Amino acid sequence: MRRKIVAGNWKMNGSKDLAKELVGCVRSEAEALDNGVEVVIIPPAIYVGDVVEQAGGKLAVGVQNVGQWSSGAYTGEVSADMAKDQGCEYALVGHSERRQLFGESDELVAAKVERLLASGLTAIVCVGETLDEREAGRAEAVVASQVKAALTKVAAEQWGQVVIAYEPVWAIGTGKTATAEDAQAMHAAIRVTLAEAGAPAESISLLYGGSVKADNAAALFAEPDIDGGLIGGASLKSEDFVSICRAMP
Ligand code: PEP
Repeated sequence: MRRKIVAGNWKMNGSKDLAKELVGCVRSEAEALDNGVEVVIIPPAIYVGDVVEQAGGKLAVGVQNVGQWSSGAYTGEVSADMAKDQGCEYALVGHSERRQLFGESDELVAAKVERLLASGLTAIVCVGETLDEREAGRAEAVVASQVKAALTKVAAEQWGQVVIAYEPVWAIGTGKTATAEDAQAMHAAIRVTLAEAGAPAESISLLYGGSVKADNAAALFAEPDIDGGLIGGASLKSEDFVSICRAMP
């Protein structure tokens, strides 16, 4: 049985007030959910403590990024151990904004995955093709290569800490969403890649991300290889985010 997950990535948005109001609201709604979905809130690192407090153990919490080192003279960085110490269970790694705006390479993503797993966190590994790559017919090859590169340092007993989020870059924050059929096809291809990489592919949760909204979530989540969503913009409004959580079958 794969974990069903809806994770909200706040990106560089939010405040103490949002942590209080939104998380409080999502928490009380999530307690009433009967679809077995794990709801994860991923705020900026500085608000993790506020969100953990508001979540009260009823929602999981994650960080958007960690440094690749365990500790030391890396001004401005947050470590995986610190995230765990603050009560996080999840961390994003390889988000396309980190790859594009901060130059994160496949090698760096693999190093961060290794660090996250060693700290006992679940890594939500983000992969996805650009529009140019899709139009050139290279989407599946690009995604397969990102998946394989990210997972080179995963030990056999750590696969339970790995989640993959397929996020086509052209769909993130653009209002354009992959069709449920296209997203399903990519998720099925990712499962093949995972098996080739020696992972227990059928037990790894695969999330779709890219302009998921209350009105398109149900069609995406109904697909057999889509186990949940990574939600950006729509995770900043509690009613939208809760509707997406409810859309899980
Ligand atoms: C994201 O930030 O991972 C994301 C999917 O954003 P949005 O839902 O806004 O497209």
